[in-house]
Amino acid sequence: MQISELFYSIQGEGKRTGNPSFFIRTNNCNLRCRFPGGNYCDTPYTSWFPDDVKNIGDTEISKITAEYSKYSCRDIVITGGEPSIYAEQLEELCIELKKTNKESFITLETNGTFTGDFIKYTDLASISPKLKSSVPFNTEFEKTHGKNRINLNVLKNYSLLKENNLIDIQLKFVFTSEADLKEIKELQTKAGFSDKDIYLMPEGISEEDLRKNRVQTIEACLKNGYNYTDRIHIIAWGDKRGV
Ligand code: SF4
Repeated sequence: MQISELFYSIQGEGKRTGNPSFFIRTNNCNLRCRFPGGNYCDTPYTSWFPDDVKNIGDTEISKITAEYSKYSCRDIVITGGEPSIYAEQLEELCIELKKTNKESFITLETNGTFTGDFIKYTDLASISPKLKSSVPFNTEFEKTHGKNRINLNVLKNYSLLKENNLIDIQLKFVFTSEADLKEIKELQTKAGFSDKDIYLMPEGISEEDLRKNRVQTIEACLKNGYNYTDRIHIIAWGDKRGV
């Protein structure tokens, strides 16, 4: 499995904000987000600009579980890039992590475009569907990103799993403007997500960006009955790796 980085930090977003967590960041992504104003995704070293020097590279699962064993935290966050592009290895990884700590709580952070048996071993699917505002216009990725950014069948499947109490889910949307709300509501209706699982977060890769976009994001949450989540790791450390 291609790994970008392994580190211990706090969860900075969503339902488990503040929990000490072991992060497993996989490398590579099937999408290429770029937001209005020009910000790339907040981990461009796993998508746009792979960093072969700093990214760890191909890593045995036993090495990942051994690293997790060094910390006494319950929460494990598998993030990316896009972890679910490694569906089979991801399933094996989750099984081994659960063996390492039966009490572990695995959050999978995904863009919601792929599914697989790994879901059975995941406690929380943290899904960030990419809205039109993420399309990298006038780049070589505009077409493929536009075509692949939403997989409605995968999103419906997550919704069904939640309905049957097989998994918990949260939907995190980067909020950039009022135009996003129409798209979020359409997706919500088609896939069947409830308001209480939806989180809006301000767009940005710096504290200054977040400050600029925070109030309009909170106001959109209040108006629509959604939850607000900040991005504590960016507030605390800025646009830095390994946090
Ligand atoms: S889906 Fe996530 S990792 Fe991939 S480009 Fe978009 S923000 Fe970055």
